[in-house]
Amino acid sequence: MTVRMRPVLAALPAYVPGRNVPGSIKLASNENAHGPLPHVLDRITAAAAEANRYPDTNSSELLRALASTFGVGAEHLVVGCGSVSLCQQLVQATAGHGDEVIFGWRSFEAYPIITAIAGAEAVRVPLRDQVYDLPAMAQAVTDRTRLVFVCNPNNPTGTAVPGVQLTEFLDQVPSDVLVVLDEAYREFVTDEKVQDGTGLLERYPNIMVLRTFSKAYGLAGLRVGYGIAADPAVAMAVRQTQIPFAVTHVAQAAALASLEPEAKRQLDERVAEVVAERTRVTDGLRAAGYQLPDSEANFVWLAEGPAEQGGIDAAAFGAGCEERGLIVRAFAGAGVRITIGTAAENDKFLAAATELRG
Ligand code: PMP
Repeated sequence: MTVRMRPVLAALPAYVPGRNVPGSIKLASNENAHGPLPHVLDRITAAAAEANRYPDTNSSELLRALASTFGVGAEHLVVGCGSVSLCQQLVQATAGHGDEVIFGWRSFEAYPIITAIAGAEAVRVPLRDQVYDLPAMAQAVTDRTRLVFVCNPNNPTGTAVPGVQLTEFLDQVPSDVLVVLDEAYREFVTDEKVQDGTGLLERYPNIMVLRTFSKAYGLAGLRVGYGIAADPAVAMAVRQTQIPFAVTHVAQAAALASLEPEAKRQLDERVAEVVAERTRVTDGLRAAGYQLPDSEANFVWLAEGPAEQGGIDAAAFGAGCEERGLIVRAFAGAGVRITIGTAAENDKFLAAATELRG
């Protein structure tokens, strides 16, 4: 006899992380190319010396710092073991067997997995021209819908929906359905038409904004993200579904240090560098004959399609990059996502892409 598992596991798509190949340049996981700032590293080291103690399970100090950063009460805020954990907790808190969770597709790969684990049904609404199709998503809402993810900017396409479309959508969603604005890449947004979700919290009581320290703040390895709920009851539900002590003391210390004004200024400079490189990579790819949507994130997206129309064969492009010492994220049949790295890494990537174009 073998141990009986829940049948849902057999059909679960696997989360495929970006690969690390020693000696290769990794542009596959939307990480920050730079290590922690020296002062953040000092705080990490100091916090590590206290690793014999359990962390503050409520992340109280970090909550207070975030509350003052965003000008909201701490009762609206939650901290999680990465924002992916908050995504999972929100699904667990709202949806189970017979319920539906809506998201655009292709989007963040964790959404279908955490929906299936909760026993709920994933409703994937196809993107339109690589962008979240919010009118179609509003149409997809039924009596069974409990949660809608809006990934803005979207992973893996980098596209963002304009604020006007977002508010039109939010006006249509019933107020008892939670809308999660997943803004993991918000710090990289430069298009002023893209609304910062935190500016909508007072207007829509059924939204929650998710952010992370993994991307712009370069702390992916420490696992710390946060959420701001319009309604404190939603934040409470996230706390109820959290594993005790999920956010380590080291992670809390690093996040706190990153919010200090001087650290934040330096981190913002790094973001500006990524944004400038994003423009350079986009322009370089277009000059080489590729077609790609404008990205508002720290990565760009090349869609599968005929070469005459600037498209790629994703699997072949991924393999071609790998042969040239670059690990990108290929979704066979769909496209390739390339993280913006340092200028030198991006140069290598552009040279490879130009060669692959033939
Ligand atoms: N949301 C989106 C859209 C993402 O792309 C990611 C990371 N790939 C996350 C959430 C989770 O990030 P983390 O758990 O590191 O905060």
